[in-house]
Amino acid sequence: MNSPVSIAIHGGAGTLIKGKMTPEKEKSYRETLQLALDEGFSILKKNGSALDAVEKAVIVLEDSPLFNAGKGSVFTADGTHEMDAAIMEGKDLKAGSVSLVTRIKNPVSLARVIMEKSPHVLLAGQGAMDFAKLHGFQLENEDYFYDEFRYQQWQKIKDSDHFQLDHSDRKDSKFGTVGAVACDANRNIAAATSTGGMTNKNWGRIGDSPLIGIGNYANNETCAVSCTGSGEFFIRGVVAYDLSCLIEYKKLPLKEAADEVIFKRLPKLKGDGGLIAVDRSGNITMPFNTEGMYRGMRNSNGENKIAIYED
Ligand code: ASP
Repeated sequence: MNSPVSIAIHGGAGTLIKGKMTPEKEKSYRETLQLALDEGFSILKKNGSALDAVEKAVIVLEDSPLFNAGKGSVFTADGTHEMDAAIMEGKDLKAGSVSLVTRIKNPVSLARVIMEKSPHVLLAGQGAMDFAKLHGFQLENEDYFYDEFRYQQWQKIKDSDHFQLDHSDRKDSKFGTVGAVACDANRNIAAATSTGGMTNKNWGRIGDSPLIGIGNYANNETCAVSCTGSGEFFIRGVVAYDLSCLIEYKKLPLKEAADEVIFKRLPKLKGDGGLIAVDRSGNITMPFNTEGMYRGMRNSNGENKIAIYED
């Protein structure tokens, strides 16, 4: 292998009340995170691209009911599942994203096809689904996305004006968006993010995840980043691009720049959440200003770590 390779993933940040986490639950979270990490890493080890690695890692997380993306997406106010996803590669700043789609098993793959086979970056709603059908995506039945736990979450607030972040009885409790960033042996970096958004969301609400430069961004000159947290604040803080700018213009190292965004700039807006980021030297950082963030990283130096709360 020429250069070091590395990958990081997240399964959402938030206040993960320790008392509510059973050992069995924690075990399944850790196992699924490790699987996503391993699948992505094995692509990098075989000289595969960062783009393939982040797509694959996100697919594993989308296929699990544990995270608020793909199969595990939360219920909207209409009792459906509306998903957002984005993917970007750092070499030539190519990007694709998708918003407000239903019945798509792996929205991250649709985002990639938009990037590779359309002249556009972001497609939304019915149009995005027509595009998906044209490109051979099969639509799942709504039942595929049914999860009793998420259904009960929705029942509690469905007749109110409230919308809430995943797994939460309180507005600020937990976010279950998933994401991956990677650096491959050719020193190219990429980022992918996927989410079901917020329980009981209405009015075509779109969060930060499918927005390039906000919840997802990759640029070989700076970093690849995937965010999770209260999307409205990430949008106002233009978080992913802000991180890239701190590296590009202020010449901050990756970790310092990410800490500045998550621990200084975002809290000023009263925003909470976290991010994962990698640069083309394979450095990884995973800061969050919430109680925890499902996360993991693996690299060719033999480091392999899964964590939920502070270290
Ligand atoms: N950022 C996502 C959104 O606002 C939520 C999350 O991170 O779980 O849609």
